[in-house]
Amino acid sequence: MRIEIEQLTEAGTPFAHTYTPDELALEDERARLRAEARVVGRASRKRQRAHVRGTIETELEIACDRCLAPLAVPVKAEFDVSYDPPGVEAETDSAELQAEDLDTTVYTGESLDLDELVREQILLALPTRSLCREACQGLCPTCGVNLNTQTCKCEQKEIDPRWAGLAALKKSSDE
Ligand SMILES: [Zn+2]
Ligand SMILES: [Zn+2]
Repeated sequence: MRIEIEQLTEAGTPFAHTYTPDELALEDERARLRAEARVVGRASRKRQRAHVRGTIETELEIACDRCLAPLAVPVKAEFDVSYDPPGVEAETDSAELQAEDLDTTVYTGESLDLDELVREQILLALPTRSLCREACQGLCPTCGVNLNTQTCKCEQKEIDPRWAGLAALKKSSDE
């Protein structure tokens, strides 16, 4: 979906769009859309600067960091982004630009690509850490079995020395 900059007013125009998972490829190997992405917002323009704000709601599928099981992660992200035409940064003091315009993007052409904005905002909303559960055992580094559902012989051979020490400590304090 594209927003024509010329048609925007200072008061703003509401927009809404629902992306199907096929319609919005995230282009990221960590995640894909598991459900529709609903985007609702308002786009406005003051002189040449366009401003787009709104919310995105969807559900992502990402892999557990340890065992790679697929996880459903609900996402509700708010965004607030300004777009300047090319060349505006050169005219603005750089310190001022940093303070005010962290979320400013330069647009080229006559329209804004909402798909691109939504894709970026969804990827920004990805959790930095994702586990299927806090106590996930992960995969055996030697043979690759999922230790949540299976045990393997290599696991028994390699007892982490730190845990062995802890077990001894616990035993002595119990006595
Ligand atoms: Zn896991
Ligand atoms: Zn193993």
